[in-house]
Amino acid sequence: VTTVSTAITTSTVSTTTISPGPWSDVRLPTYLVPYHYVVDLQPNLEPDSTGKYWFNGTSEVQFQVANSTRFIYIHSNKLEYDDVYLADESGAAISIAQWWLYDMNQFLIVELDAELVQGQNYSLHTQFKGELADDLTGLYRSTYTDINGKDVIIAISQMQPTDARKSFPCFDEPAFKATFKIFLWHKDPNYALSNMPFVITEVNWDISPERYGGWKRTEFEPTLRMSTYLLAFVVSEFGYEQSFTSGTPPVQTRIYARPEQVLNHNVEYAKNITPVILDYYESYFGVDYPLPKSDQIAVPDFALGGMENWGLVMYRETALLFDAAINSAYSKQRVARVIAHELSHQWFGDLITPLWWDELWLNEGFATFIEYIGTDYVEPGFRMMDQFVLYDLHDALTVDALTTSRPIIAENVTTPDDINALFDDISYSKGGCFIRMISEFAGEEAFKLGLKNYLEEFSYGLVDHNQLFSYWEEVKWIFFWSDMDTWVNQMGYPVVTMKQNLDNPLMMEVLQERFLLDPKADPTLPESPSFDILYDIIIFYSYLLNNSDLSMVYPNGKYVIGNYEAFGYYRVNYDDANWNAIINQLSRNFSAINVKSRSQIIDDALTLARTGLVKYEIALKTTKFLRDDYDFLPWQSALRVLSYLDDMLGRSEAYGVYSSYLLYLVEPAYYNLTWTDEGDHLQRQQRGSTINTACSYGSIDCIEHAQTLFHTWMADPSNNTISPNLRDAVYCQAVANGGSDEWDFIWGRYQTEGDSHEKSALQSALACTKQLWIIQRYLEYTLDSTLVRNQDAYSVYVGLCGNDYARDLTWDFLRREWDYIYEVYGSGFFRINSIIEGCTSRFSTEFELKELETFKESRSDQLGTGARSVDQALELTKTNIQWRTDYEDTVFSWLNYVRRSLILNRIF
Ligand SMILES: [Zn+2]
Repeated sequence: VTTVSTAITTSTVSTTTISPGPWSDVRLPTYLVPYHYVVDLQPNLEPDSTGKYWFNGTSEVQFQVANSTRFIYIHSNKLEYDDVYLADESGAAISIAQWWLYDMNQFLIVELDAELVQGQNYSLHTQFKGELADDLTGLYRSTYTDINGKDVIIAISQMQPTDARKSFPCFDEPAFKATFKIFLWHKDPNYALSNMPFVITEVNWDISPERYGGWKRTEFEPTLRMSTYLLAFVVSEFGYEQSFTSGTPPVQTRIYARPEQVLNHNVEYAKNITPVILDYYESYFGVDYPLPKSDQIAVPDFALGGMENWGLVMYRETALLFDAAINSAYSKQRVARVIAHELSHQWFGDLITPLWWDELWLNEGFATFIEYIGTDYVEPGFRMMDQFVLYDLHDALTVDALTTSRPIIAENVTTPDDINALFDDISYSKGGCFIRMISEFAGEEAFKLGLKNYLEEFSYGLVDHNQLFSYWEEVKWIFFWSDMDTWVNQMGYPVVTMKQNLDNPLMMEVLQERFLLDPKADPTLPESPSFDILYDIIIFYSYLLNNSDLSMVYPNGKYVIGNYEAFGYYRVNYDDANWNAIINQLSRNFSAINVKSRSQIIDDALTLARTGLVKYEIALKTTKFLRDDYDFLPWQSALRVLSYLDDMLGRSEAYGVYSSYLLYLVEPAYYNLTWTDEGDHLQRQQRGSTINTACSYGSIDCIEHAQTLFHTWMADPSNNTISPNLRDAVYCQAVANGGSDEWDFIWGRYQTEGDSHEKSALQSALACTKQLWIIQRYLEYTLDSTLVRNQDAYSVYVGLCGNDYARDLTWDFLRREWDYIYEVYGSGFFRINSIIEGCTSRFSTEFELKELETFKESRSDQLGTGARSVDQALELTKTNIQWRTDYEDTVFSWLNYVRRSLILNRIF
């Protein structure tokens, strides 16, 4: 199934008269091998008389014929052709019988009168035009309001994964690497950028003055051998700042953005860290950055965080720009991370590229892991290697515990929808976790040497995981072949149980079984014939015993912690005695246990409790040390995993006592941190989170303080004295505990705010309101892209669905307006997944299950890339219903018990 809507096309014959042919296969044949393109594009930034925007283009693709054929087919989507002709190597025209567009598979098909000769080279020439739409795909237009309030239009591109074919006809699969000679047209004051440095900009065209009069043409150096999805085009009047790497010759690195962003020095942070990261990667990978320049550009409308186009990386503004005066520590970290991620792709993805999208994890898993290495190098104070646990390990372990998960190496990937659906937590986070596990196990030197050899061997070429594994195997005795395949070729992961061996009580028994969040799901499905759903587990562990013997002695009276420092991709369970020994250690002296393990213990215990593998009385006790431990990591893990209890108890009588417990845990940290923005990077982030937690669970002191700060700002709007690190919390609490005055004030600021980070903080706060009529009005606003940008609306829905007061209204609204939602998000990247996940994760009643089933049935043809998310949501809702039956009372009574004992001790 493909969701691509009918192309606007003219062709010599209608598709319906063509009998079925090999083009009914969505994959390209391998008998035409392209090696060079010449592409000339003229994006017109002024509309035609009907208000539509267009680009004109000509293209030539040179290819070799590996097997004689009478048919050429090449990708083309939403392009209208004026001319198609074929020439042999001498330039002589080859007779074409007919050509047509096969929209179903996005092909331009050319049928020849005679067969093309095997081994010969030909060139296909086309002249075409396409719409320069504001749809964030292919060559598209983006609009922003400049400092004078004037709307400015730029042309920009996003090709990955299958939209290069929307800009010019091409063999649009990653394996068809070629070189590209690019020409771009533009008018003053705009200029053009592409992957390579420009050669010359020419003016004064006397040919076709009606088409080229007043235009300039920029010619770029030919690219190195690369995949189509990494091409990039920009026509804008953006400003930039530049720096250079320290290599020989130095690489020129430029950060482009709207002129006012450059004037405001918001590109400076990116400018400073980029050459440092590139230099570091060159030494880490042992392979030089392959291009003469590295441009990065902040785009006002961009579907993704960043896109690793070779030599011209694109970002949404919040992922590249940073203003130290008004942006938070978290924003800074995000910028560093996304830059480190995209720059690592310049090697992993761009220099070497997976043969096909089913191994997307070789791009995204690597970039996910390496982004931490790169950020850690440039910002050692961020403790990135610790934070990996929070942002990637725990995400992956959550998603991958569902029966609807998938193996890292995907199966049955053919259509654009299949490909788009792979940009998920499995490719990114699980891929990253797997690579991190290997890196820890192999040791840094062997890990790096294997990578270096692999990169050198396959530069400008194509890879699969067997090649990668064989290079690690070569430098280290690691048993990659069958063993590591258990992690990449089957879905899910195990829970490892370490417990006393009852037959031999001095010894420990270590067992594994697949872990699934739904205790009723069948862990043997889907079948994995090669591996029996067993995983080859690298056991990292820590004893508090002085034990030279590697056999596992049961730590009687002491404790053992499995998966120490959380390098392994699995969960660990223990017998009650060992759990209690760990909990005792945490309450006596938590710092004896590594901070990553403190995070992991909380996450494991509370997740395993959801399925009955650990008693809730024990799991909840793993959180009690948080009264003493103010560190960012265990707190964030706890808030994340406890949010499940929030979701399940949010509308139950247990919520009161649950809130009291959370307030009891957070109060020492709240009073310790104070409201002054000071301390190290993570303390400054933690302060905002602590304040938000204290206010959310009902601290009157906190709410009053937040309101005072906010009203001071409202009284003097030009002078916002709220620290950037506290803004998320203060804005949200002021809106949540206020009325339309506070909301309207934020909304007004949101409409005019030029800084994207600040704008996103304002946007999040708008979703905090508890007033139903304001929620309804806000939802209506999202249908108007002049009020809420399309790229932002999805996060409005997710934000509102996270608010107990707004969830029902939002879900009703989404179902009612699904036609619109689908049109905007249906065929793009993972936005529709986020909407479905964000808005259904709290479903826990039979009624909500029925609603979701009805939704799936009635919209089955309008789910696009979200189809898997709906199945996951159904599974999760059933699990939630079961959870409430099984555990709600247990949790309620434990919380009551703690409350009573604390009251007796006069603590509460
Ligand atoms: Zn990436």
